[in-house]
Amino acid sequence: MRRRTLITFLAAALPAGAALRAAGPIPSGALTPQVEEMRRNWRALLAKNADIATDPAPLTLSKDEWRKRLPPAAYAVLREEGTERPHTSPLNGEKRRGVYACAGCAWPLFSSEMKFDSGTGWPSYFTTIPGAFATTTDYKLLYPRIEYHCAKCGGHHGHVFDDGPRPTGQRWCNNGVALRFIPA
Ligand SMILES: [Zn+2]
Repeated sequence: MRRRTLITFLAAALPAGAALRAAGPIPSGALTPQVEEMRRNWRALLAKNADIATDPAPLTLSKDEWRKRLPPAAYAVLREEGTERPHTSPLNGEKRRGVYACAGCAWPLFSSEMKFDSGTGWPSYFTTIPGAFATTTDYKLLYPRIEYHCAKCGGHHGHVFDDGPRPTGQRWCNNGVALRFIPA
């Protein structure tokens, strides 16, 4: 097979939206002024005296310490890159105002304004609180996906795709068990 034919074949074999791309910085999506403001002002949705982490210094624990700290389902996702079964998280239907923090370390990740109903069975967001995550590219499926993890504790949360709604076009597909919701 000639090289060009092979590339054409591979492109056709990939699911829509799964464009080949190299690992890189966190995709920012289309940050309209409204999204920029939403990202900047997430604290307006944070309850008074909410228990969240404010120090960005990395939280590093041993496997045993994480096991003691987390319920088994959260441990499997956050520390072993597991995926919860779709439609199992109570946070899928969560519509109250508030802030979503990391279940491992309480680092703030999303506000309720960033959430949308993707129909996938996992809590989904079209942008994040600034500094929430770092990303890597994983190849567990045949095509590369951008895996993202908590910027503070390194816990795995989900994957970000480029088939989300306007205005950013992003879909941050997050395991609900890795999140803790704090109502406003
Ligand atoms: Zn964390």
